[in-house]
Amino acid sequence: MSLADQIAAIFAEARKAKEREPRFGISDAHGCARSKVYSFRLFEETGRPVEFQRPVRWGLAADCGTAVGAALEAAALRLGHATQGQAAMGEIRGPSDIVLSGDHGLDIKVAGGWKWRKIQHEPDPEHRRQVATYAHILEKPKWALLYIDGRSIFTAGEEVEWVLHEGAVVPELVAATVGFWAVVQKHLNDKTLPARMEPGSFECTVCPHAARCWEM
Ligand code: SF4
Repeated sequence: MSLADQIAAIFAEARKAKEREPRFGISDAHGCARSKVYSFRLFEETGRPVEFQRPVRWGLAADCGTAVGAALEAAALRLGHATQGQAAMGEIRGPSDIVLSGDHGLDIKVAGGWKWRKIQHEPDPEHRRQVATYAHILEKPKWALLYIDGRSIFTAGEEVEWVLHEGAVVPELVAATVGFWAVVQKHLNDKTLPARMEPGSFECTVCPHAARCWEM
């Protein structure tokens, strides 16, 4: 096998991923509820999370985001803030990135390209829902989202570019998290499936359950 073929094989292998063990995660309370029901059922049947393939870039971006978050969380911890605060509301749970000693629960997101342009004036609604839920459970009245331009990490100069959004924790944001998992739980209990998304939805093109979902 040539060197180039070996590298291509490594990239092909890096496409393989598997879901986390299904959980009622605060950060997972979005997207297709039907897909969540499949994930819970299959895990119950097999004891293993679902395996799937994704573009290599997506996995690398997620890994970069995790590493950047860890570095900034460590700095925040040294400054006396709390990090990875475990937020739990019944079975709905998840770790908040940083719980500032002031009024805010803070999450860090690394963005690039289209996403970076999109969050210049408004945060991603899903990110806002997540961080507001963490803040509510951890008894902070405000949420904050720190977006970092991933490309600026690798460009010349000493500063990274960032955008900060903040807001009050309002009941609707927390209710959206609770409501999403209530739908999934009801279908699990009733042994039914939520409706499919529209054919051709982006979620379906990357869904590990697409074959079983659309073959039914
Ligand atoms: S294929 Fe589409 S509708 Fe079916 S579970 Fe996946 S995301 Fe949902």
